[in-house]
Amino acid sequence: ADSHKTPRDEIGPRQVRGAIFTWVRPEKQQDPELLAVSPRAMSDLGLAQSEADTEDFKQAAAGNKIYGFDEATLSGPGYPWAQCYGGYQFGDWAGQLGDGRAISLFEATNPRTGTRYEVQLKGAGLTPYSRFADGKAVLRSSIREFIVSESLNALGIPSTRALALSLLPHSRVRRETMEPGAIVVRFAQSWLRFGTFDLLRARGDRNLTRQLATYVAEDVFGGWDKLPARLADPSDPDASPPPTRGVPSEEIQGPEGAEENRFARLFREIVRRNAATVAHWQAYGFMNGVLNTDNTSILGLSIDFGPFAFMDTFDPAYTPNHDDYLLRYSYRNQPTIIWWNLVRLAESLGELLGAGPLIASPTFLASGVPTQSDAEPLIARAEKLIDQASLEYKSVFLATYKSLMAARLGLRTQAPSDFSELLSPLLDTMEALSLDFPLFFRRLSNLRVADLDDDDARQRAAEVFFSPDPEAPPTEEARKRVGEWLGLWRARVVEDWAEEADGERMRAMRGVNPAFMPRGWVLDEVIRRVEKGGERDVLRRVMHMATNPFEEGGWSGRTRTEGGEVYEGDEEEE
Ligand code: AMP
Ligand code: MG
Ligand code: MG
Repeated sequence: ADSHKTPRDEIGPRQVRGAIFTWVRPEKQQDPELLAVSPRAMSDLGLAQSEADTEDFKQAAAGNKIYGFDEATLSGPGYPWAQCYGGYQFGDWAGQLGDGRAISLFEATNPRTGTRYEVQLKGAGLTPYSRFADGKAVLRSSIREFIVSESLNALGIPSTRALALSLLPHSRVRRETMEPGAIVVRFAQSWLRFGTFDLLRARGDRNLTRQLATYVAEDVFGGWDKLPARLADPSDPDASPPPTRGVPSEEIQGPEGAEENRFARLFREIVRRNAATVAHWQAYGFMNGVLNTDNTSILGLSIDFGPFAFMDTFDPAYTPNHDDYLLRYSYRNQPTIIWWNLVRLAESLGELLGAGPLIASPTFLASGVPTQSDAEPLIARAEKLIDQASLEYKSVFLATYKSLMAARLGLRTQAPSDFSELLSPLLDTMEALSLDFPLFFRRLSNLRVADLDDDDARQRAAEVFFSPDPEAPPTEEARKRVGEWLGLWRARVVEDWAEEADGERMRAMRGVNPAFMPRGWVLDEVIRRVEKGGERDVLRRVMHMATNPFEEGGWSGRTRTEGGEVYEGDEEEE
């Protein structure tokens, strides 16, 4: 432990048994440069902003100093570790994975909020889980993760967070070319993934599965009493439906004769959180790109930012992952895929859920128990459990998605027809005309109802939704289609708002429809300017925009030309 050197032959990639983490030291880094911090993250961790200016902070952000660990005596509570997990990747079991380049340093509780976070470094060197790779992260992907984590959080989308970004000036990392190395200091209330449970199932480790599930309920979620209430048994006339957050409770009842155990309630909490998160992704056009079970969070956080993207022109079949030729992780598939991952989790928890080892582990099945006749009630139980959970998943997803989209459309109430008669036609129109998804909602926020009185006015107003390309102005048909939709929208808005409250409606819409999102081309430009131009202030500015996404004035002053389309930055017409 007194050496920071962790060459591959000492730390050795290996299969780990009976444990889900390994103690591990970050590599020592020479002359690290602290490129940027997230002021929002500093305050959420309970740190004073000035803390980031200290030498200790800089060294800690590069893995050279570990808070809570005394180098002289080699003692203290803060000894770093790497987690072990497995995962289903593109539908297939991939075996043991684990933190191949992430090292957790310590847990920290914000004294003001009482929220506890696990702080970790990404790109700090080899771990036993590095497999064939180098344990490093390049500056390019680190900038992307640093900004998107904080952007998602500011948009109200559950996400792992980023505190700081360090440049390792002496490190050169081999990818397609040689690139500078970097470290992201990141934090989350938990880094546990579905893949953590998958791995225990594959090992057939029933004790550790129970121990981990208990830890998640008691420690991560804060106690069994914090989990959703037991579902009502529909065959019990006295049972009253449980209170549910934001979901019509009559939609979700327990299985008949249900004896729901506490682990079933834990599973339902994980179902609900993930349903709500994927609803946020769909509402804001976020695509993770690699939704393997090792990249799906027990807490329902957006986690692991590889080829992620925010939707530009609306295309439901889009995926930012160029290797994903089956479009498994495309925008439109995200809700289905998270459900697929949840079913894998139910299988891993099967025995604890009372559905028996049947869905718990292939290993148990191979051992010949239970017998076929024992198995039947368990199969029935498992089917009921999955059916009921799928209903709850859909309810929470739809309730969350609908309420987010109602707000984005500037509606105060939700009419049953809004989904089919207002939102669906809008999405169809956006797709057919390749309209820009985030820009559409921001520009809609700034339209005055009084300017949409007749067909002509609406067609004129429609202009703002098209890219200002003098070579290819929108066709009359296209303007007419958007104009007609604006007519539907106007009618619905005046139902909800008094005429004199139009300013209030516009303000409310601007508070949920961002002026800034870290789109791929913005991130590319930031990366270029930091890498090639040696600029630093650009990171501070883009972080400010990412963490204040509803403020007027987006990424302006530059023009991009891409696939024949030209966009000015999101300049605002006020
Ligand atoms: P991902 O595709 O990011 O979900 O990564 C899948 C697995 O590969 C995880 O276990 C990562 O920790 C590991 N991994 C990815 N890149 C590296 C790297 N450069 N060094 C070590 N492990 C890595
Ligand atoms: Mg991953
Ligand atoms: Mg990754």
